[in-house]
Amino acid sequence: MEQKIYDHAVLADKFNKDASRVDWHDKTLWFIREKRDKAAWQIAEWEELREAASQVKNNVLDNLHDYLLEFEKQAQQNGVTVHWAANAEEHNRIVHAIIKEHGVSDIVKSKSMLTEECHLNEYLQQQGITVVDTDLGERIVQLAGEPPSHIVLPCIHWKKEEIGELFHQHLGTPKGNADPQFLTAAAREHLRQRFMTSRVAITGVNFAVAETGEVVVCTNEGNADLGVQLAEVHIACMGIEKIIPQRKHLGIFLRLLARSATGQPVTTYSSHFRKPRPGQAMHIVLVDNGRSERLQQESFRNALKCIRCGACMNTCPVYRRSGGHSYQYAIAGPIGSILAPGLDMKQHADLPFASTLCGSCSNVCPVKINIHEQLYEWRQVLVKSGHVSPVKKAGISGMAAVLERPGIYKFSGAVGRWFMKYIPVLVNNKLNPWYKQREMPAVPRQSFNEWYRQNRKQNGKQS
Ligand code: SF4
Repeated sequence: MEQKIYDHAVLADKFNKDASRVDWHDKTLWFIREKRDKAAWQIAEWEELREAASQVKNNVLDNLHDYLLEFEKQAQQNGVTVHWAANAEEHNRIVHAIIKEHGVSDIVKSKSMLTEECHLNEYLQQQGITVVDTDLGERIVQLAGEPPSHIVLPCIHWKKEEIGELFHQHLGTPKGNADPQFLTAAAREHLRQRFMTSRVAITGVNFAVAETGEVVVCTNEGNADLGVQLAEVHIACMGIEKIIPQRKHLGIFLRLLARSATGQPVTTYSSHFRKPRPGQAMHIVLVDNGRSERLQQESFRNALKCIRCGACMNTCPVYRRSGGHSYQYAIAGPIGSILAPGLDMKQHADLPFASTLCGSCSNVCPVKINIHEQLYEWRQVLVKSGHVSPVKKAGISGMAAVLERPGIYKFSGAVGRWFMKYIPVLVNNKLNPWYKQREMPAVPRQSFNEWYRQNRKQNGKQS
């Protein structure tokens, strides 16, 4: 795993240097959040669906061992080769071995956050394998040499003019043409050649059905299907938490997933892969990579219920204004901020603090993960384990000392108001990070407490 150089606040600051991009990023994601709301409200039983999904996932987590074995048995009976990987390195080695066995050096891959988590592309490229991401957004960031910034909308931080320039450089499209339809057609033509010649196709997995041993892959572009149908070998990579017990449960999740992700009633393609077609080989790689450990942590285990819809990112005021790359983890936003410290507490100690704890993420989550409560819990764990900087720790202790003592709190408020009124430069200066993007408000004449007491008295009541 690469070493983090900057923390979230520093990279968010960098993203914020381009004010128009921040504004447009913020508004675009909020537009998707609003689409999600409209799509959800069209279903009278939306809350019942969320509750059902949450219960199914609870059941999966309680019986994961059994469901995984059932899934393996069914998949093997279907003629699929099942592999188990304890961590990212093992996953990458397994995938490479399969590709090597077939003597292939160029492969196609549809969207898979698991392979991002495992840094599969980098690993395969080091082994001399060329990987072409076939999801349009993923291909754009791949050509740009960047990781995705969003789990559903990988290039949401790119403007169409920038994509036009990128395609001009890499695909030879006319300079200055940024028409989305034209660029999509150019990408389609470019990718079609890769699909036609690739003998191995990798896909992610949205759901794996224990009862039947099949995997379900949801896309809007049909790129997973095209890759798999034309290749001799299909490798499906999945985290072990993707299991659902029975096919009948799919209806719950498919209705929730697309509505939560983009506000669509359903993804354009929900493809079921159960067995290899004649002459084809199919492999499924089941990856743990810290998930079993997470399962044992009562406070954090239900983060494993995530179906990667991205709704918590679209609604998060911090994500919308700091951009996905500021998280420096394959999965950005609120869900990434509770998953990443579980993998490496030291490396990702900044992420649980990248939140206002407003709870909007938990409100939109289709599987009812208590994201904001886990963010708060992670902060406490990180402070106790010494993974928070001494400056931040001193600040938190100072605030706690003030907030715990009403007398000191009132006195500090009075002192603060006096300084802001008579020597404002002590607060409104560049050393104060809050001042960088906002003017401090006009000083109130009295504290809320004073106002409240006075008004209670005026109303003839004793405080
Ligand atoms: S935590 Fe919930 S809202 Fe966020 S991506 Fe996962 S399922 Fe979607």
